[in-house]
This record gives sequence, structure tokens and C-alpha cells, in this order.
Amino acid sequence: MPAQLLDGRQIAKRMRERLRKARDAFGDRAVRLVSLEIGQNPAAAVYVRNQKRAAAEVGIEMEVVNLPVATSEAELLSTIAELNNRADVSGMLVQRPMPPGIDPRTVQMAIDPQKDVEGMHPTNMGTILYKEPLLPPCTAAAAQQLIVETGMDLRGAETVVVGHSEIVGKPIAVLLLHHLSTVTVCHIGTKNLIEHTRRADIVVVAVGKAGLVHGDMLKPGACVIDVGINQGPDGKIVGDVDFKSANAVAGFLTPVPGGVGPVTVAMLLRNTLRAAGAAI
Ligand code: NAD
Repeated sequence: MPAQLLDGRQIAKRMRERLRKARDAFGDRAVRLVSLEIGQNPAAAVYVRNQKRAAAEVGIEMEVVNLPVATSEAELLSTIAELNNRADVSGMLVQRPMPPGIDPRTVQMAIDPQKDVEGMHPTNMGTILYKEPLLPPCTAAAAQQLIVETGMDLRGAETVVVGHSEIVGKPIAVLLLHHLSTVTVCHIGTKNLIEHTRRADIVVVAVGKAGLVHGDMLKPGACVIDVGINQGPDGKIVGDVDFKSANAVAGFLTPVPGGVGPVTVAMLLRNTLRAAGAAI
């Protein structure tokens, strides 16, 4: 029997409807998201377009600031400082990849933690160890949401996170620990990945390598969340999980595209509303 697909587009649509209600209840007060981009990146342009469309649907104004490719780190930090001080700006994000010469950590730390809608400031990342912060990292929160949507009992569930990046793998692992899942984090140093994935009730893959996880690495009925975004040889976007073989073994599976991605954008908008002070 094929896996039940976790339709991120549908889940994100439902979330946007809920966010729209919260935004309307917030009244006339401004909710503005500023997206900073240095230079022009075709991949980022697609993200920005999707974010803008989703923001408009929820009633959030999205201001896109394109800085020249030669922008120095000091100039970027000064723009961020201005946005930190602007009362009409609820939240901001800096699109990735950032050009060489700009340190993403320095940039992240310069953003006011209360406007850090990507949830990447050390304050928000640190709070995650205590509890889920008001502004959690969006992709990790999206992966968590998709797992919760399955209705699985997370307490005691064997969970394997493949990938230990700051932006995805580590925060997902900690968020799932809050549900009392038994979490193992695998990464580039892991000796025998299959030994871990095969015993997992939940597998979250966030690596950036197409086809890294395939069906025979999975426990029958497992919930598989594929965070990866890779360009296949034919130019099509694929995840880190081999969809065909995983679909034959897994109980739940996220497609790529149309799984984690749209829910991540919805989380960004939820964080923006929260940063503005709306109850959501
Ligand atoms: P990253 O490059 O920062 O980290 C990659 C991780 O994979 C590292 O922890 C590394 O140890 C691990 N890894 C590498 N090779 C491995 C192997 N052979 N076996 C096990 N682990 C291995 O990547 P990232 O920023 O976390 O992104 C991961 C993927 O998720 C990328 O494809 C990225 O495009 C995608 N992504 C998607 C979203 C979304 O919203 N859907 C958001 C962010 C990132």
C-alpha cells in the first residue's frame, strides 16, 4: 500500500486561513515583513515571489529591499539597524545564500530577536532548549507541524533526524524532544546510517543530497519528512528521499515539492504575526 502523502500545500492553505483570521482580528495595526536580498539570485527570486503571494493572502505587507551585489557587511548591518528601529516593521529576513564576505551568523545576530521571524537569532535558538520559542526556526517548525498532522503518538517514538545544521537538523531534533520522542541525530560523521533509519518510527531528512534515503532504509509504516531541495539532472526539484521506493514502504511521506516548503512559508507568516503582537 502506498504511503499517505502529507500534502504541505493543503496544510499551508489551512494555516493561511487561520492566520488571515488572526490578522483581521488584529485590526488596523501594521504587520510588515521586510525581505532583504543582496544581489540577484534566481532561486531566491522564486522564494520571494512565493512568500509575497502568501503574505498578501494573509494580509501581511511584504517589502522587498534589493541591495546591490557589492553591499559590504557593514552596510548590510546598518540597513538592519534602521529596520530594527522602524516601528512599522514587524519582522525581517535576509534571503540566502548571502554573498561571500558576509557572515550569516553576524547578520543573524544583528537582527532584533523580536523581529527575527526566521527564528535564527541566538536568543530564539537558545530559548528552544527551554521550550518552543515564540519565534521558532520556520523549517523546523514546519517539519514538526507535518508530523503532528499525522496524529501519531510522538511520546517514546523512535525519531531519526538526518542532518545536523543550525537552521534545520538541530532545532528539529530539539523540538521533537519536547514531545518526548526518543531522538537520534545522524550526520556526515554517522557510520552506518541505515542501522539508524531502519528502526525509526519517524525519519526527518535534511541533508541536500538527492536519493540519500531510499525505501530499504525505512521501517515499514514510518513517517518520513523530506526537507531536502535538490535540482535533479532534468532540472526538476527533488528531495533527499527516493520518492518511489520510500512511497512503497513508508506510512506517511512528504512530497517534494509540495511538502515542507509551503508549510515553512506559512510558519514565516505566523512568526511575522506573532512578532507584530497578534495572538496566534
Ligand atoms: P547544510 O548543508 O547546512 O547541512 C547538511 C547536513 O547534512 C549536515 O548536518 C551534514 O552533516 C549532513 N550530511 C551531509 N552528508 C551526509 C550523509 N551522507 N549522511 C548523513 N548526513 C549527511 O544543509 P541545510 O541548510 O540543513 O539544508 C539541508 C537541505 O534542506 C537542503 O537541501 C536545503 O535546500 C533544504 N532546505 C529546505 C528548506 C525548506 O523549507 N523546505 C529550508 C531550509 C533548507
